[in-house]
Amino acid sequence: MTLDTSVERLSLALEEPFTISRGTQTHVENAIVHVTDEGGMTGVGCAAPSRHYGETADTVAAVLPELLAVVEEVGDPHALHEIESRMAAVVSDNPAARCAVSIAVHDLAAKRLGVPLYRLWGLDPEDAPETSFTIGIDATDRIREKAADAADAGYSVLKIKLGTDRDREVVEAVRDAAPEATIRVDANEAWTPRETIEKSGWLADLGVEFIEQPVPAENPDGLRFAYERSALPIAADESCLTAADIPAIADRCDIANLKLMKTGGLLEARRAIAAARAHGLEVMLGCMVESNAAIAAGAQLAPLLDYADLDGSLLLESDPYTGVDVTGGPLRLAETDRAGTGAVRESPGETVSDAE
Ligand SMILES: [Mg+2]
Repeated sequence: MTLDTSVERLSLALEEPFTISRGTQTHVENAIVHVTDEGGMTGVGCAAPSRHYGETADTVAAVLPELLAVVEEVGDPHALHEIESRMAAVVSDNPAARCAVSIAVHDLAAKRLGVPLYRLWGLDPEDAPETSFTIGIDATDRIREKAADAADAGYSVLKIKLGTDRDREVVEAVRDAAPEATIRVDANEAWTPRETIEKSGWLADLGVEFIEQPVPAENPDGLRFAYERSALPIAADESCLTAADIPAIADRCDIANLKLMKTGGLLEARRAIAAARAHGLEVMLGCMVESNAAIAAGAQLAPLLDYADLDGSLLLESDPYTGVDVTGGPLRLAETDRAGTGAVRESPGETVSDAE
């Protein structure tokens, strides 16, 4: 079989600047991958590179030709294991680039069979948890407004980015603005282990559900120290990228926060979920700020999750792709009723020329 492939770079503006403890984003660049079979059916994938993991739109564009050459050589969109393992052998880093290709090939394989991916995997869409809605670091009054707006829009789970000297004031404002909401907090590595233990006490008093990545990934002993003494469960994000990282975090957190753009593909994401379960961890699937072309793929895994944080497209000013509808929180997998990931191009968007 002959498979044709192509790449398109998309510039995506955020609705508002998004700040976490490491910095602020106002726009992101995603790379869209197309894989087309002889009958003209096309699978769509998306890379959302993260500088934190050493990737940019340029590094993605640089390695995609090698990865797409693997797809063309294999020539069979149903050979998902072979394609994903050969890609990892060709390009060991660059997980977002590999993930875009993995999503596109999975999308094409499921479309050829006429089923959504969750059906291909035998999952029940009713098991999908609601997604949280993320509120970045901002002026406290603005955070209060955003929390009230999100609660009004139906979001029952709010994820609050922390890591400033106003952490307590911020969480108190969110609790005040959204008294019924489930609140999760993410420090993105900004705290010390002792600070984590101290903050966990008043965070628990404010009814927070869990703390995500309080301490730097480079401090695994600190993570264990905090985990053993924290008043709240601990989720690991920056500390776990692939299935191979799961055994090392299993005795120092309660929840593994996986992301497609960290695992490098949908098969590896499923392996990481299975590894986390085997080690007694709960599982969350997060995302980058990214198009529905990627979010829709993550949503297909939602029935396997305890917690979903798949709001990346909700933070965009506009997204050329429609995917699985997550507005208001519920991941409406069954209602999407489209084969593959469910991602569909609705508008041209802003394409970036990669000609240097
Ligand atoms: Mg996180």
